[in-house]
Amino acid sequence: MAASVPQKLVGIIGAGIAGPAFALQLLSHPRLASLYRPLLLDKTPDPSTLSSEDQAKKESASFGAAVAVFPNGLHPLYALGLREAVESASLPLDIISFWKSPTASSTPHYEYGTIDHPTWSHGLQSDAINIERSALRDMLLKAARERGCETMWDKKIKGFEEQDKGATKINFEDGSDLTVDLLVGADGGYSMVRKYILDKRDPATAEKRWLPDFMHQTGFYGISKGFPYDKDVSSRATIGIWLDRGMLASAPVPGDKIRWDLVLPEKEAPPASRAVVDTPKSEGKFPWESAILPSAYSHDSSVEILQKHMNAFHPAAGTIGNLLENAEQIIRTPLRQRVWKAKEIQYGNVALIGDAARLMLPSSGQGTGFGIEDATVLAAKLLEHSKSSADQNDLRPALEAYARERVPRSKKMATVAWVTGKLAMADSWFWRWVRDFVSRWFPVGYNYKNDPKAKDPWPLDARFNVDR
Ligand SMILES: Cc1cc2nc3c(=O)[nH]c(=O)nc-3n(C[C@H](O)[C@H](O)[C@H](O)COP(=O)(O)OP(=O)(O)OC[C@H]3O[C@@H](n4cnc5c(N)ncnc54)[C@H](O)[C@@H]3O)c2cc1C
Repeated sequence: MAASVPQKLVGIIGAGIAGPAFALQLLSHPRLASLYRPLLLDKTPDPSTLSSEDQAKKESASFGAAVAVFPNGLHPLYALGLREAVESASLPLDIISFWKSPTASSTPHYEYGTIDHPTWSHGLQSDAINIERSALRDMLLKAARERGCETMWDKKIKGFEEQDKGATKINFEDGSDLTVDLLVGADGGYSMVRKYILDKRDPATAEKRWLPDFMHQTGFYGISKGFPYDKDVSSRATIGIWLDRGMLASAPVPGDKIRWDLVLPEKEAPPASRAVVDTPKSEGKFPWESAILPSAYSHDSSVEILQKHMNAFHPAAGTIGNLLENAEQIIRTPLRQRVWKAKEIQYGNVALIGDAARLMLPSSGQGTGFGIEDATVLAAKLLEHSKSSADQNDLRPALEAYARERVPRSKKMATVAWVTGKLAMADSWFWRWVRDFVSRWFPVGYNYKNDPKAKDPWPLDARFNVDR
């Protein structure tokens, strides 16, 4: 009987999106809840003790200000009973409008057109959603807490040590330690748990394999306030704008705000993971400069680039300059991508989920969705294992099956993100030509919700469940 087996302690490093989603999956299935006790561990302070302004800043400094979640990522959340919470904290992605906006204000902008309910799922009866990442994270943490999950904050990892019977000892920088039966790395794109796995697999290549590849793109992510969501199509639409080189995508989020991502080509990456506290000495030339958060880039270089795009047209805000002037925060980050191999995201009783397992360009739009999928598939594999395997200490078969299943899907998605990213950057005559060509084929004027035959396209059609 499952209930007579001692509960296994699951140390989940990272209380971002994938970590709480995995804890929730374990706690929401009766058999898994009787077998496993998840414990979330995060290096950041308890968000409930921060002012909302500080929290938003800490959140967004490294993980994106807001995200879109598509039907493949929404399905597990709805199955967990979170539909109402998701809907009340987000806005539907129910109109998308495409534009071309030359950087020089003298050249006229151009509208390709709009598509209604572009990601409508008849099965789920839902559009994709736009949500601030902090709102999604709070919702997942609250639900996990209500279902009995404990979270330890301010727990910065120093290292890991392999123990008997597949257990792992976690050493923290505050001098404490904890031994867990199953270690799950949900600690993002620069994962310490991935470093540990790679080192176990092959110390000679670990360092080189750890850092995701720089994709020659830089991303500015902003949240701007004072843009009411009303009947006007441009205020409600998710907007994609081709710039001369690069693109701007924006969408309304609750609170009369617009989230926007400005993604531009870039030759050299700044030094990896080095946050420079580089605020302007004086007030700066533009009032919006104070919204730029410290990053690996110099403040002045970010201002210079943003300034060049101020006059480009934006249908809801008028210009990109108006988005900047109303920005609560602007984050800049070099864009990296890598899908690690199956043996690089699992070792013994250790596995990776979310960005720790694969980091994708934002042009995938699937970082969050794939993290939620990972959490669901990993829980499903543990459930299968609990029913079929004699040795319940050795979780390897479940974790290996998880890794084998996830990697091919991630590779395909990363390839799509790479192609979309190249189109968006348009930094050679070839990609500019392809971009102009494919733009003529946007199915503008179409309404997927009105078409009963419309099917969810790949990868939005996936429906992962814990109990299959
Ligand atoms: C600008 C931008 C726009 C994006 N847009 C989209 C989008 O539209 N749709 C989408 O699906 N995705 C989008 N993404 C991606 C999405 O934000 C990520 O894929 C998602 O947040 C990953 O979740 P995660 O839980 O794996 O990792 P994270 O959200 O990065 O969380 C990792 C957690 O681990 C903690 N941590 C890290 N290191 C340690 C350590 N050593 N010890 C303890 N704790 C640690 C961190 O504090 C954090 O809480 C976007 C990303 C960016 C940057």
